[in-house]
Order: sequence, then C-alpha cells, then structure tokens
Amino acid sequence: MTTESWVERTRALLDRFGMPAINADYVGFEAACWNCGRHGPVFLWPGIRDWRPPPAPSPTTVKVRFSKTLGESYPANGCIHCDAMFGDFYLFDLLLDSLEYEEAGELADRFLNDADVAGDESE
Ligand SMILES: [Zn+2]
Repeated sequence: MTTESWVERTRALLDRFGMPAINADYVGFEAACWNCGRHGPVFLWPGIRDWRPPPAPSPTTVKVRFSKTLGESYPANGCIHCDAMFGDFYLFDLLLDSLEYEEAGELADRFLNDADVAGDESE
C-alpha cells in the first residue's frame, strides 16, 4: 500500500460523506461508531498519539474534545452522526476492526507508533 493510494482513499472518503477538503497530511478510513453503530470517517494525522494539534484545514469531525476517562482534553475524532468521541485507545481498536491486517499495521506504524499501545487488552 503506497502513500498515494491512501491519499486517494482519503479523498474518496471525504466525498462519500460530503466533507470539505482537508490537509494532505491526514489519512482517513471508515469505521463504525461505538455509540450509534453507524459508519463514518475517522482521521489520523502525524503526531496524533502525542496529542499534536491537527493540521489545518482539519476535518469537521476532528476537534479538541474532553476525555472523561483521562480527565483531559485533547484533539480527537468524533462520530459524524452523533459526535461521540473516539479516544486514543478506541481509535486503535477501530484500525484493527476496520481495515485489513496489513493496512492497519501500516497506519499504526505511521501514526500510532507506540509499541505498547495494544498491550492493554484484557480479553
Ligand atoms: Zn455515532
């Protein structure tokens, strides 16, 4: 999977949900919301794991949100339908659930490259 094809797929995703153009640093994929169960776009950007500010122009679903779990605010994705927050850990699950194994691994390496991030599963 090349970077170019992610650019294409992200553009197609924006079209599919009628969203305006965004900064080319984003990679988007489609995933089901934990709250309403509907499918919507989810975006990754460089430094997302370090809570770095999302590059502008940013997707309308990405903004600083308050996490009750962490008791802090940080830039995060939300559901385009119900605005439920997709926190850091849920985001990683979304990757694994929504994409092929290799694709999820590629994106995780690029954006969520914290080797311990998946080590907290209690299943
Ligand atoms: Zn939702």
